[in-house]
Amino acid sequence: MSQGFLSGKTALVTGSTSGIGLGIAKALARQGANIVLNGFGDHATPEKDIQALGVKTAYHGADMSKPAEIEDMMKFSAQQFGRVDILVNNAGIQHVAPIEQFPVERWDAVIAINLSSAFHTTRLALPAMQAAHWGRIINVASVHGLVASVQKAAYVAAKHGIVGLTKVTALENATTGVTCNAICPGWVLTPLVQKQVDAKATALGISNDEATKLLLGEKEPSMQFTTPEELGELAVFFCSAAAGNVRGVAWNMDGGWVAQ
Ligand code: NAD
Repeated sequence: MSQGFLSGKTALVTGSTSGIGLGIAKALARQGANIVLNGFGDHATPEKDIQALGVKTAYHGADMSKPAEIEDMMKFSAQQFGRVDILVNNAGIQHVAPIEQFPVERWDAVIAINLSSAFHTTRLALPAMQAAHWGRIINVASVHGLVASVQKAAYVAAKHGIVGLTKVTALENATTGVTCNAICPGWVLTPLVQKQVDAKATALGISNDEATKLLLGEKEPSMQFTTPEELGELAVFFCSAAAGNVRGVAWNMDGGWVAQ
């Protein structure tokens, strides 16, 4: 068994079969937290990798656009490990189109998965956290929770929404041991962003490398991707005793994106 400062605690990370969620799940596991994974695709490999860190894992495949499945996942998590101590709302999708051409079905899906799912997990996780006088809720927002970009109406609306939800959750629990904070990454090279690099390369008839440089150059002064490992360490900090009075922040890790 792992002996980190989160030993004996349980973290549920939504959308953790890939990308940022998996990076955060591994960072919390390195500190000893048992992990409930969620997301689509292969979950056996991430589970094996996390178990190798000396913690227990469980997996629930709830579709984050479906409140009934979210309720089932929350019940399952409590049954597996007693209670969810750390909730990381990370699952998210993107769709890029101008507003007048934005498919209504994509708008509904982005709002459901990137915003409403966090309301459902939070409302269901809070009672046990409040009873235990300890809890950490970490919402993976985005720089798009702080500033906008064209063609991302649903995503920007959802991410601004989750920053608002973060503040309300933090305030309603401000006198308790339950904190809620948001992480706002700039570009992170995950499948979600690789699709945007590929689309740029195809649209402009340029190489993957050139499209990557263009993408970074438009927004990110450091010209570097933030990594899931770096974001994982920020999540670990939010779980630490030193962060016990950090409440309702939206912390950007973005190579200078929103400093401009
Ligand atoms: P990703 O595509 O690598 O991972 C997304 C995860 O969410 C996967 O595990 C996927 O299976 C899961 N998922 C998608 N739809 C789901 C659904 N309906 N139900 C359950 N799980 C679902 O993407 P990522 O880049 O790691 O993104 C993770 C989060 O980080 C998202 O909220 C995203 O908006 C945010 N983010 C990403 C970037 C970036 O540059 N990659 C930047 C800022 C914020």
